[in-house]
Amino acid sequence: MAIDFDTYDDENIFAKILRGELPCTRVREDEHVLAFRDIAPQAPEHVLVIPKGRYIAHDDFHRNASDAEIVAFWRTVAAVCDELGIRDRGHRLIANQGRDGHQVVPHFHVHVLAGHDLGPMLPGSST
Ligand code: AMP
Repeated sequence: MAIDFDTYDDENIFAKILRGELPCTRVREDEHVLAFRDIAPQAPEHVLVIPKGRYIAHDDFHRNASDAEIVAFWRTVAAVCDELGIRDRGHRLIANQGRDGHQVVPHFHVHVLAGHDLGPMLPGSST
């Protein structure tokens, strides 16, 4: 079934994790943000950072979240990078949005990937 990217789905996997209905391996948490390990890691370090609010994707989050939520979110992304010790070697942040972005879970999240050479930005790209 096609994913609805227009209306927030309270039954999406991350909403269930936030309600404690599904487990996660927590890395960090505060009032506004949860960071946890991806269940199918695509690099030695693969952490997902999500806001606790009901935001479908990054445009929804950046348009509608409060300043406090936005600041807390990006501070958590930075803190996760510090905690994983991946600042010096480098890492990659990814936020997939919508159909062309191949977003699978319709709750805004940033992937933090690191731990080895991550290769080109996209398949077939030279950088
Ligand atoms: P995206 O394609 O950006 O929507 O990515 C969704 C990510 O969520 C994928 O990398 C999945 O492996 C991850 N994922 C799906 N279910 C879970 C889960 N229960 N716990 C942790 N990560 C999950």
